[in-house]
Amino acid sequence: MNKNDIISRIIKLKEKHNAIILAHNYQIPEVQDIADFAGDSLGLAIKATETNAKVIVFCGVDFMAESAKILNPEKIVIHPDKKAQCPMAAMVDVESLGWVKEKNPRAVVVAYVNTTADVKAQTDICCTSSNAVKVIKSVKEKDIIFIPDTNLGLYVKRFIHNKNLILWPGICPTHHKIQKEEILKIKEKHPKAEILVHPECRPEVIDIADHVFSTQGMVNYVPKADSKEFIIGTERELCYRLKKENSTKTFYSLKTAICPNMKKITLQKVLKSMESLEPKISLSEEIIQMAKKPLQRMIDIGRGD
Ligand code: SF4
Repeated sequence: MNKNDIISRIIKLKEKHNAIILAHNYQIPEVQDIADFAGDSLGLAIKATETNAKVIVFCGVDFMAESAKILNPEKIVIHPDKKAQCPMAAMVDVESLGWVKEKNPRAVVVAYVNTTADVKAQTDICCTSSNAVKVIKSVKEKDIIFIPDTNLGLYVKRFIHNKNLILWPGICPTHHKIQKEEILKIKEKHPKAEILVHPECRPEVIDIADHVFSTQGMVNYVPKADSKEFIIGTERELCYRLKKENSTKTFYSLKTAICPNMKKITLQKVLKSMESLEPKISLSEEIIQMAKKPLQRMIDIGRGD
């Protein structure tokens, strides 16, 4: 089947099943193009609460599809490739979190959405890269266990001085790989380019940035900015969306910034999953109830950028 046939089949199945396709900004271009909505983790989580569709086809990594199911337990949530998993989310598990909670009995647990449903169920409030500072400011307690991204935790610490943030030794391999030298080399060739980076980057990369944004923050900022050129310090596929929406501007992506997990979902897999309505996300009622509270608390706080 050629690409056009696949797309028209997907569109027919969308109508048949009353389905919505949600895609993260790091998905391959073809998948972004067939999505009803593309966005960052928070935008997709909010969209998942707003849809009347009966089926959500989630093109992203595991924890994102799980979040859609937690927020819509009555809907069918399809994840076209279950092997599309986030390694950072796998860096924290219920047992180890339990030990740290035991050692810090007064601490509140703030979980980056990049965590599994089981882990979320053991936490107090979630955050994304777009609202982490806002969420932590909203917490009254002084001691906060922040899981799992150290780099995001270190970034938040720059704005919050009256809390004791206990950081978890997790990282996003894709963003942690980004080196300031690679960015500075591009800057040397294109001195007028503004440097935009994601808060999952290392502190020394954050230090040389003009702005630090979530992916949606970058999408919102670029059209308003006076600059015509940008160095994009996040997963390189975001440049596809940026270029599509800002055709007169130029974007320099980073060669190494690729998340292989996000690339596992293809048009063929989307079609196959919509034909069979498999693989479905399935979570126990108990986990859904427990994990929904921290997610809903985060959604109620809203965006920070
Ligand atoms: S970019 Fe990083 S945080 Fe996002 S899915 Fe890939 S590994 Fe996980």
